[in-house]
Amino acid sequence: MKFLRKCYRYFFRDELSIRHKLVNVILGSAFLVQIPGLIVTIIIGTDFYGIVTQLVMTAVIAAVMYFTNKFPESPIPPILITVIGNIFVFPIMYFTSGGYGTGIVIWMLFGAIFTWLLLDTKWAIVISVINFIIVNGCLRIEKYYPQYVSYLGSRDDEIVDTGMAFIFVTVIFGVIFKYQTHSYEKQAKTLRENDDVLRTLNEDLEEANIRLESASAAKSSFLANMSHEIRTPINAVLGMDEMILRECKDKQILEYANDIDSAGHQLLSLVNDILDFSKIESGKMELHPVEFELFSVMNDCYNMIFMRAKRKELEFIVENDPNIPAFLYGDEVRIRQIIMNLLTNAVKYTKDGSVRLSFNYETIDDEHIRLIVAVKDTGIGISEENQKYLFDSFKRIEEKSNRNIEGTGLGLTITKKFTEMMGGTIEVLSELYEGSTFTGRLPQKVADRGTIGNFSERLNKRIENIGEENRRVKEEEKKEQFTAPRARILVVDDVKMNLNVVRLLLKNTLAQIDLASSGEECLKYTLVKRYDVILMDHMMPLMDGIEALHKVREQADGLNLDTPVVALTANALVGAQEMYLEEGFVSYLSKPVKSTDLEECLLKLLPEDKIERQDEKS
Ligand code: ADP
Repeated sequence: MKFLRKCYRYFFRDELSIRHKLVNVILGSAFLVQIPGLIVTIIIGTDFYGIVTQLVMTAVIAAVMYFTNKFPESPIPPILITVIGNIFVFPIMYFTSGGYGTGIVIWMLFGAIFTWLLLDTKWAIVISVINFIIVNGCLRIEKYYPQYVSYLGSRDDEIVDTGMAFIFVTVIFGVIFKYQTHSYEKQAKTLRENDDVLRTLNEDLEEANIRLESASAAKSSFLANMSHEIRTPINAVLGMDEMILRECKDKQILEYANDIDSAGHQLLSLVNDILDFSKIESGKMELHPVEFELFSVMNDCYNMIFMRAKRKELEFIVENDPNIPAFLYGDEVRIRQIIMNLLTNAVKYTKDGSVRLSFNYETIDDEHIRLIVAVKDTGIGISEENQKYLFDSFKRIEEKSNRNIEGTGLGLTITKKFTEMMGGTIEVLSELYEGSTFTGRLPQKVADRGTIGNFSERLNKRIENIGEENRRVKEEEKKEQFTAPRARILVVDDVKMNLNVVRLLLKNTLAQIDLASSGEECLKYTLVKRYDVILMDHMMPLMDGIEALHKVREQADGLNLDTPVVALTANALVGAQEMYLEEGFVSYLSKPVKSTDLEECLLKLLPEDKIERQDEKS
């Protein structure tokens, strides 16, 4: 009994396909039928050839069973069984067991149906066609040559044979169909159970997703707040520092102030990197293409990097293909950022030698080029193993040796994202201790057919006097371009230091400036005085800048119902500008405010008759 159960478990194990199990049913039944037949033949012992035939048949069935179960994936056993049954056994039985008046016709039908149960459609069609020809052949031969058929002894024998065949075939089909139904039910049950498990998993996933989304929203709002909180004090520090740089004559103090200025700007670019990264992460980063002059980008990058390279005694070389179109259409700000990130890294990670910036291009079609920007340095290089982590966020490489070099590991991540947003690529070739070359390929639209010319010559000539020029440009930037002694400006900010910064930045314009430290105080001023411009902070306790603006507009007997109000805020997140314009601000200035931006804004908004331009005066 135990042995039989073991056999059953082996021949009907779960990993076998349903077809394979059917093959086992047939072979198993044939084997079981064969054994008693063999025993009876041996006991009677009359027919020697009969015994040999029975023995061979039993051995063949056992061998096929073994082969079938040893190689369960093989398609040969089912094909073999249907071929043997339909093409050999049944036709032979037809002529030896009494022709169409007996059970053989039922067996042939059984063989035909079984073919479809066992085989793939392609093979089933092939065997069925052959079977059809053979069955018809048997019937025709019997009709025209009945002498080839060995008929049973009597009509009674034929009836018994038909009845037996009917019973056998019914039982076999009954078992097969029952077994199949049982298997399908079992499978359906497993599927239902899997479905339940999947549904539960799905619900868990959805919940996790909701948790992640809210965590991501919390991260965004944290970043927005952090950006505001950090930009506000930087604004004050840089603003006050600018006053020192402008007014102080002491060389030593000017040096300190210069250091504060560069550290402050470094901090600011760090905050900007984190903001850019969070915008990219949340999918809110967009490109803003404009028409731009490539030379101006090259020039800016050169000016920004030249002094840094000089301080480290690095040679800084800029070269370009003079045939690059001079005017392109793309996101100039982000292109500049990509180049600057690569250049800053090259200078940061190079102790001695040179940094080479080169511009080339490939034509894509009539309207587009691929701008190829390569930054090559002779620095510490990156090992092959580490190169694959280069563009991972917050990943710094060779951390031990780079410990003294400042960085967050965000620059290259942002650079790669911007490049990809433009449809371009960035790649690195580097050898440890030898140097690195970063190459960005940026598809850009051509705005003008003119070419950029040999700018490297001009740039190289400027190396000698760039320090002087920089200083001059800086001085020029900080110089007021106009005065407006009759202009009235109201500045609203809850942080006293910020009020002072704006006041000091505008000191030389000679404008009449009032300072309000809350929305409420602002409303008191707007009730009694008519202003030409109001500069309003956004985030203020109790009444924020937006609410204050709405109240100024609706103020009964108010004197500033249509005064232009500029948002002056540390909120630098995506969409901030649109939001302020929608709320009714005429413009938006992000902190830390540069005096040049502030003056430019006032020049646009102040009434012309109140502006006295310097060049007019001189
Ligand atoms: P980080 O702010 O740390 O410079 P980046 O994303 O710009 O962040 O660069 C990631 C890392 O890649 C750096 O920490 C540095 O180890 C390595 N790296 C980037 N540029 C260079 C370079 N030109 N030479 C050698 N290593 C570099």
